Amino acid sequence: MSKPYVIGIDIGGTNTVFGIVDARGHVVASDSIKTKKHVNFDDYVAELHEGIMRIVKANEAEDKIQGIGIGAPNGNYYTGEIINPPNLPWGPVIPLAQKVSKAFDGIPVAVTNDANAAALGEMTYGAARGMKDFIMITLGTGVGSGIVVNGQLVYGHDGFAGELGHVIVKRNNGRICGCGRTGCLEAYCSATGVARTAREFLEVRTEPSTLRNLQIEDITSKDVYEAAIAGDKMAQEIFTYTGTILGEAFADMVAFSSPQAIILFGGLAKSGDLLLKPLKEAFDKSILPIFRGGTKVILSELKESDAAVLGASALGWEAKFKYESPVAASFDRGLPVERDEQPTATGK
Ligand SMILES: [Zn+2]
Repeated sequence: MSKPYVIGIDIGGTNTVFGIVDARGHVVASDSIKTKKHVNFDDYVAELHEGIMRIVKANEAEDKIQGIGIGAPNGNYYTGEIINPPNLPWGPVIPLAQKVSKAFDGIPVAVTNDANAAALGEMTYGAARGMKDFIMITLGTGVGSGIVVNGQLVYGHDGFAGELGHVIVKRNNGRICGCGRTGCLEAYCSATGVARTAREFLEVRTEPSTLRNLQIEDITSKDVYEAAIAGDKMAQEIFTYTGTILGEAFADMVAFSSPQAIILFGGLAKSGDLLLKPLKEAFDKSILPIFRGGTKVILSELKESDAAVLGASALGWEAKFKYESPVAASFDRGLPVERDEQPTATGK
């Protein structure tokens, strides 16, 4: 057989991005469709299949697709379903893996949530290559996480493990979170959390800030970033506030699994030292002494435009192995895929 490929699919609230990926982690081709164009899930799968087959045919890859990996909000690795998605129109239980596999004549399909897919992508192609213990944190509209212990993603007994965005960081008078509780990390340290902090600061404080020139309800994390870079003191303090909460939360996470690294991904992670400096300070200060200095906080090495597809595609390899031999699904994750062109079922 010639070079094997997998398909990576990232289902977001707005766009579904998909691509063909080779064993070296190169995105050979990619495209996207609108996620919510179809209210009927079968129609969505049909359009997705059509879009993928278009790029597959254009690259003469019809016989090379070995597996399909899908990252989706609330995607469940064990059942292949999306359960109670916050932002998708197709009902409370969506049989994603089953329907997509059927559309592709039985090609193995694996599903997980988007942050777990990002962790797999990082482990297979990015900053976590060669690491067996790390935690991936995605800082986007929400805060997602993927926990890897001993080379394996932690799925928990039901497939939903790793919701570190919903650890409680404020016990008293915490902000209401999208999950229905109060005080979650996500309510403070996501992009929307940063915007909420800006609104709070502007309302409670009196000092001048260029943020006051903006419509308060329209302020985004990007506005705060730009003001901070331009020297606005309050905007800088918003990042200090955010980074400090993150750093304290990370110190707690280390106590759970003693990872080699916590890897940051997503728009906010690109704020550089504005976020990282207070984060690392709070992290070092709050960490249990036996762990001090043992865990790095680093940034993702995946190109943002490719990351979603790459992460999902890493799961596509796993789908292939799981299908060929359920035991082989536990292949040694410590080896980067590109050491051999074609990963074998044992990964050796
Ligand atoms: Zn929450």
